[in-house]
Amino acid sequence: MQSMLEGEQKDIVVQSAIEAFGEAGLGRPEVVAVAPGRVNVIGEHIDYNGGLVLPAAIDRWTALAVKRRFDGKVAIRSMHGDADPIEFSVNDIRKSPNRCWSNYPKGVLVGLQAKGVEVPGFDAMLVSNVPVGGGLSSSAALEAVFGKAVLELVGVEMDPLDLARLCQKAEHDFADVPCGLMDQAAVILCEEGHLLLLDCQDDTFSQARFDDPDWGLLIINSCVSHELSDGGYAARRDMCHRAADLLGVGTLREVPLAALPQALETPGLSEGMVRCVRHAVTEIDRTLKAVDALEARNYSEAGKLLNASHASLRDDFKVSCPELDFIAATVQNLPGVAGCRMTGGGFGGSAIALLRRDSTAEVSARIAEAYKAEFGIEAKIFETRPMGGAQAWKA
Ligand code: ADP
Ligand code: MG
Repeated sequence: MQSMLEGEQKDIVVQSAIEAFGEAGLGRPEVVAVAPGRVNVIGEHIDYNGGLVLPAAIDRWTALAVKRRFDGKVAIRSMHGDADPIEFSVNDIRKSPNRCWSNYPKGVLVGLQAKGVEVPGFDAMLVSNVPVGGGLSSSAALEAVFGKAVLELVGVEMDPLDLARLCQKAEHDFADVPCGLMDQAAVILCEEGHLLLLDCQDDTFSQARFDDPDWGLLIINSCVSHELSDGGYAARRDMCHRAADLLGVGTLREVPLAALPQALETPGLSEGMVRCVRHAVTEIDRTLKAVDALEARNYSEAGKLLNASHASLRDDFKVSCPELDFIAATVQNLPGVAGCRMTGGGFGGSAIALLRRDSTAEVSARIAEAYKAEFGIEAKIFETRPMGGAQAWKA
């Protein structure tokens, strides 16, 4: 099992970006930026209900090495992409029509320009070990490294929350993904040894301590992605918003736990809406309780909250799937595990477990074997602890 020393994975990715920059004939970079992926520990499907989410930055990283050019051109090379760099003029940045990944950096550069930042031309080399499209926010990491690197290059400071919003807007406008703020906030604002408690009602946030050296997080990627996920997501979001209308509140966040039984009796709520309201209101409560439990190092309580979150997403919100249910049920019963739940939008993707670090190897091996036997699929599994957010420095 790999070591979980903070910095090791990060250093590897940063080093390979610097080396690849040199191997491309560009010499030494002027600035290097790095940003982590993220996982949501608890608080699922409640961002659009004005709720609270609790992501952690994970030990998977995207690094960018850059050097200023004086011809107004931006040339981005990626170790994962085509041999030819993506090139465009900094004074004429246009959204690419074919969903090219360059739209993410382009959106960030346009956002910086809109804030009055004089973005220079530059050469860039991108390297990442954040799984792409795996629900661990490779897209936010990609946005963050460009934002951080350019700000460092020109010596401009920007409030981190403003940068997160700028990256979110890039994703909306240039990648056509109408995401909430969680991903960008997590990859930019997270602090090592802490989870980020983000209030989606007003974008305020605080750091929730989780730095026990004996406890960690395990991410188990089911490697399945079921159809219907787009429609399923929109349908639930819509149902929550219609239920809030019927309850006479702006968002379901405004329904306190104590008022839930009464709220569920509201005339006109469909059976589906009742389940959505129950999930949202109880999940917000669980998220707050999880912060307290983790800060108090009460892992049995925190684990129970994770398990209850999974049950709510499975039974009430109905966004789980057989593979995630199997992983959660199996892992919840393994020694050293406090709790396990699906994480992310659902219908596939990953599960997250809270566990004793000395159990990681055994738990990983047992769930990999059981999952393979049940579904014939190799799960991708890795451990992490809460990492720090994006950084940039003069190389
Ligand atoms: P997630 O953010 O969960 O990984 P998304 O669908 O939001 O999934 O973002 C994935 C997209 O982000 C990819 O399709 C690609 O366009 C872009 N992307 C992310 N990381 C990289 C990278 N290292 N190189 C190129 N494109 C990337
Ligand atoms: Mg994304």
